[in-house]
Amino acid sequence: MRLRKASVLAAPLLALALTATACGGGGGDEGDGDGITIGIKFDQPGIGLRDANSEFSGFDVDVATYIAGELGYEPGQITWEEAPSADRENMLRRGDVDMIVASYSITPERAEQVAFAGPYFLAHQDLLISSDAETPTEESIGDLTLCSVGGSTSAQRMEDEYGANLQNFQTYSECLDGIVGGSLDALTTDDAILAGYAAQDEYAGELTLAGLNLSDEYYGVGLPLDSDRVDAVNEAITRMVDDGSWDRFVEENFGSSGYEPEPAPAIGSAPTTE
Ligand code: GLU
Repeated sequence: MRLRKASVLAAPLLALALTATACGGGGGDEGDGDGITIGIKFDQPGIGLRDANSEFSGFDVDVATYIAGELGYEPGQITWEEAPSADRENMLRRGDVDMIVASYSITPERAEQVAFAGPYFLAHQDLLISSDAETPTEESIGDLTLCSVGGSTSAQRMEDEYGANLQNFQTYSECLDGIVGGSLDALTTDDAILAGYAAQDEYAGELTLAGLNLSDEYYGVGLPLDSDRVDAVNEAITRMVDDGSWDRFVEENFGSSGYEPEPAPAIGSAPTTE
């Protein structure tokens, strides 16, 4: 039988498509088979940042790229989606993203709505203040005008435990000018995030961390509640730590800010029950 020209051309393309599907589907049956969509932060330098050229960088970006690689996806097959703190559970529930790697603390409440792999990082809640300001103590937090982000553990803790005068924004970076300008006393969230802002050239010397260790924030990889990828992602995280990649990602993303994170936490070490 003579093949029509179009079929001759289509055959290699079909073979390519099948290879991509087989390759991309290595970690489970979620996603569309030839790519993976990952939720990250877009405005947190050192963690998850999209720059003016739409290039992505940060510890979470490196962790997510490594995990995606272990699941069978090349970096070029990753689509990055912004995952604001308040939207993360909904994004996973709706299937907007296949996974979320976005300074996402594992908590018992969230673990009822989404599945978590990890943790892969341990941060602590702190306050970012103007370098000119007096350093607050835990006791003086109630007197401060603070900002944070709705749907974050940081905002929740301020409301529940400190009765703080809190203004909530959609993203943390929206608070920075208020601190420098004096309309806000402090931004509160994880020290890893705050260190990234303090190290930004545009705020050089103007912002300081208070050094209060207000919580343990165990960052997990968020997956849909019924995901079959939890074990594969945990294995990827273990490999990332064992082969030295985790240390390299820490050095490359936090080295210049002077932030020294805790050692990599053990898989399963975050509290998921009350
Ligand atoms: N890790 C905290 C959380 O998941 C604060 C950082 C954030 O909002 O991404 O809520």
